[in-house]
Amino acid sequence: MPHSHHSHSGQFCKHASGLLEDVVREAIRKGFQVYGLTEHVPRYREVDLYPEESQLTLEALSNEFDKFLVEAHRLKSIYADQVALLVGLETEYITTLDLENLSKMLERLGERVEYIVGSVHHVNGIPIDFDLPTYQMALSSFADEKEEDRQGAFLSAYFDAQYELLRRFKPEIIGHFDLCRLYKPSLCFRNYPDVFSKIERNVRYAVEYGALFELNAAALRKKWKTPYPAEDVMKVIIDLGGRFALSDDSHGPHAVGLNYDRLPHYLQSVGVTQLWYLQRSTAPNAAGRKIQAVRLSGDWLDHDFWRQSAM
Ligand SMILES: [Zn+2]
Ligand SMILES: [Zn+2]
Repeated sequence: MPHSHHSHSGQFCKHASGLLEDVVREAIRKGFQVYGLTEHVPRYREVDLYPEESQLTLEALSNEFDKFLVEAHRLKSIYADQVALLVGLETEYITTLDLENLSKMLERLGERVEYIVGSVHHVNGIPIDFDLPTYQMALSSFADEKEEDRQGAFLSAYFDAQYELLRRFKPEIIGHFDLCRLYKPSLCFRNYPDVFSKIERNVRYAVEYGALFELNAAALRKKWKTPYPAEDVMKVIIDLGGRFALSDDSHGPHAVGLNYDRLPHYLQSVGVTQLWYLQRSTAPNAAGRKIQAVRLSGDWLDHDFWRQSAM
């Protein structure tokens, strides 16, 4: 304890900062026992590059990802006696091109990708977590809907994309489940019965194949009062027998373990009694990858980490 299953570095992600090795060193300094390195997969259309990537070509983006894997595995070996580094990736689903290319990439990379954080950051091909105006563009892209129905259509599209991603890749970690309300944290999914049943469908499916749901502390630095997911989704996951794993989704050494001090209170308030983490295994899991979920033994709150001043 503790663990994080999701991180980025400025070395391989233009909207993050710092070297990957410095992220790892900071994780060791803060007492992490399991730390996942999960860079974003490349994107495949010029139009999907972010403003800070305007100098990059699609080919360069793809090469950067391969370099990330080389460096992550190097760090995994040299720091093996200090921290269990897991090497994975974070998905994108902008168009079906991303899914097709991810399938090819996973085939090509084999066991070099140890696990997957399954995330959706776009709706109708438009980023939903970049800034508020872009989010609003994504919402307005449902122009055929009556204005009062757009929010529901937007949310439905998000959770349908998530479902497709789960079915195709069975990600071990479900990334920031409710990112779709980043700019509207008070949005109540229960007001959209169709959306709510899609959430239940997705959770049920993920529970069945053995996924872990990420408690992602990054929402706290984005001014949410809770990590992702917020209480309503937490309740669905708990009721349907879902299991949770911690992530900081850090974007540089400064954000390693950031706001973890606020997690215990939240976990207790929503009634999370067990935490799980990933560990390499010899037998393949439901997705065919050699990694498994392990339950943290004893009382998770009893761990020294929560008392460390370094946190
Ligand atoms: Zn993400
Ligand atoms: Zn991320």
